[in-house]
Amino acid sequence: MNGLILLGASGSIGRQTLDVAARAGLRVDAFSVHTNLDAMEEAARRFSPRAVCVTDPDRYAEAKIRLSDTETKLYAGREGLAAMIAASPADTVLNALVGEAGLYPTVWALENKKRLALANKESLVCAGDYVMALAKRQGVSVLPVDSEHCAIHQCLRAGRAEEVKELILTASGGPFFGYDKEALKRVTKSDALRHPTWNMGQKITVDSATMMNKGFELIEAAHLFSLDIRKISVLVHRESVVHSLVRFCDNTVLAQMGVPDMRACIAYALFYPHRPEAFVAPLDLAGVGTLSFARIDSEAFPLPALAVEAFEKGGVMPAVLNAANEEAVAAFLAGKLSFWEISDIISHFVHTYTTVCEATPENVSAASAEVRQAMAARFGK
Ligand code: NDP
Ligand code: MG
Repeated sequence: MNGLILLGASGSIGRQTLDVAARAGLRVDAFSVHTNLDAMEEAARRFSPRAVCVTDPDRYAEAKIRLSDTETKLYAGREGLAAMIAASPADTVLNALVGEAGLYPTVWALENKKRLALANKESLVCAGDYVMALAKRQGVSVLPVDSEHCAIHQCLRAGRAEEVKELILTASGGPFFGYDKEALKRVTKSDALRHPTWNMGQKITVDSATMMNKGFELIEAAHLFSLDIRKISVLVHRESVVHSLVRFCDNTVLAQMGVPDMRACIAYALFYPHRPEAFVAPLDLAGVGTLSFARIDSEAFPLPALAVEAFEKGGVMPAVLNAANEEAVAAFLAGKLSFWEISDIISHFVHTYTTVCEATPENVSAASAEVRQAMAARFGK
């Protein structure tokens, strides 16, 4: 690997990537933040990057002052992000942006023939066919950072593509595992933000509580590994030790295990095909004692099945699913919507949206803008 461009350096994955970079002595050539200038300044002083982009243009003036005594070139806005990626000599982009905002940056990374370490699963949810075809045309790889897909990527090294029968994604089950519909109607925002095993950004934490995250991961896996989505299943695994599994044609099942620490997945993606020295603690299986597996209660958690439905409808429907989810989660975090209503709203859009055109980035933006407008009319900005 020859230098890193880190998109979303101020987020949960972004900060853990900086930790890996510092410990491995990787050169961070450029990075972006959106609004968090404290994180931006701290990382700029620690890594002395060639360039930084602040994607919220309203923060540019203050960012300029903060970096005035450094050599770092400052870019602003989405155009600035595109320009920063194009100008960087680094060969690898790690996209740790959250939401559909990560789609165009994924496209820019691939257009500039950068190897892509992808945490931003929404890029694949919204436009997976487009993104994977672009990567193929450009001759660059897309390496998953998401722990389940990182696990599957590792298990797949043990066999040939035609020998794979099933991918099994594990799910922690989130804070509400075992709750029924009635119990879910009473949960609060702080309950939803209390994830049992992973410490993540707010949006993915809510997505884990609703299990929309697992729905997104089913779509992500279908694109990354070119497999029929019906051959990808989910098992709830509370211990978050088995990160996912692959079943081969002889019914042998391989699992990848480790402590739940995203730095292992970040390092795997950055150093692939080499295995770096450990960035995480060893797994103490005797200390864990028991590993449990259960099926999802799809009545209480209908969103993974809805994601499969949206994926099978095709075109921009998964982008509609994603935009409805982003807006519903934002409304929930703003106290405008109850937890249970999140899935009702998303389901409404997936069942009423009719134009299903090809999921190019332009069509994705147009479809999601429609959803966002409808949500703004209902809940205000
Ligand atoms: P965070 O919310 O912690 O961080 C998001 C990052 O994106 C921040 O740097 C933020 O900048 C930036 N950002 C937010 N909005 C915009 C925007 N409109 N334009 C440009 N940049 C923006 O998220 P996570 O790190 O938790 O998640 C990042 C991605 O990784 C998501 O797709 C998530 O699903 C995926 N993922 C995360 C895991 C985790 O453990 N956290 C595990 C597996 C996948 P700022 O803060 O400066 O405003
Ligand atoms: Mg995951």
